[in-house]
Amino acid sequence: MVDLKSQYQKIKSEIDTGIQEVIDNTTFIKGGKVTEFQHHLELYLGVKHVIPVGNGTDALQIALMALGLKPGDEVITPTFTFIATAEVVALLGLTPVVVDVDFDTFNISLESIKQSITPKTKAIVPVHLFGQNANMEEIMAIAKKHNLFVIEDACQSIGSKYTFSDGHQSFSGCIGDIGCTSFFPSKNLGCFGDGGAIFTNNDEYAEQIRSIANHGMKTRYYHDRIGVNSRLDSIQAAVLDVKLKYLNEYCFARQTAAQFYDSAFADNKNLILPKRSEFSTHVFHQYTLKLADLDRKEMIKYLADKGIPAMIYYPVPLHLQKAYQDPRYKKGDFPVAEKLCECVLSLPMHTELNEEELKYISQSVLNFIG
Ligand SMILES: *Cc1c(COP(=O)(O)O)cnc(C)c1O
Repeated sequence: MVDLKSQYQKIKSEIDTGIQEVIDNTTFIKGGKVTEFQHHLELYLGVKHVIPVGNGTDALQIALMALGLKPGDEVITPTFTFIATAEVVALLGLTPVVVDVDFDTFNISLESIKQSITPKTKAIVPVHLFGQNANMEEIMAIAKKHNLFVIEDACQSIGSKYTFSDGHQSFSGCIGDIGCTSFFPSKNLGCFGDGGAIFTNNDEYAEQIRSIANHGMKTRYYHDRIGVNSRLDSIQAAVLDVKLKYLNEYCFARQTAAQFYDSAFADNKNLILPKRSEFSTHVFHQYTLKLADLDRKEMIKYLADKGIPAMIYYPVPLHLQKAYQDPRYKKGDFPVAEKLCECVLSLPMHTELNEEELKYISQSVLNFIG
């Protein structure tokens, strides 16, 4: 699905130099590289605070902890997403309230959010799925009206831009109270191991987040609250600091590949193309088709035989996962998400796809359909 080797080859000398620098000065944790990368990312995103952490899941957990949510508080999250979004809510003893998504964009449904708000609701966690922002202007308006926090799960959408109705733009993850991202190797800005970051424009949250990520301390060995240990290490920061310079190029390469797929599949009645929202750019963490009247299993097998990976993101919605069984929910409650789980298929999508590969993949898809 991704080609990290070819990407590395192109920037090998820069990356190797950065990593070697860290090894030479042996500041492996909280070194200058982490601070440098943090500042560069703050400048890129135009956000006041970037707090690097261990991974995207930690980022989400720490964000929830920083807002002082208490057991029993309800947190609204889409049922069609990667499990981490709800996992941390459940781990903290908060109550995940799952809602449906839009068929066109895969993102959280505004109607479904509105219907799920109760006096116990404290936060909304929209996920900018597959690289396109959810409708943040509306979500922020709903949150304001009901006095709710908004934590953006921007693990798949770094570099994507949201345009508000007055024309001003913000980067994904920098709109809500707190934004979270992941630097997992296959993410749009990926390191060579685990990594993540939290974004906020709020000084108070930033201070809380830094303290929580560092065992709940501000002054060394004085612990103000219960925290965790979550940090980005210097070697990962060195890799990310190089790759950040190429992030725009990487986004463009993904968008170009998506355009190619779009044109190849445009007139096919068995394939529903990923829809672009008018208010967001799409950075295509995934290029996800919806199949109409096609045998998905057979199609995956057919493509695999031709050496083409194709993946189902995601096969089971949250409310039907074994670990998240809940008497409040049953099959049929979230028909859009359930339908998507049955018909989505993601094709190879990364920064190194060339025209020959794109032709081969799309022609193979079309050949299967016949
Ligand atoms: C990858 C991802 C996460 C978790 O990130 P990790 O770095 O793997 O912990 C959370 N939410 C979404 C939507 C993701 O895609």
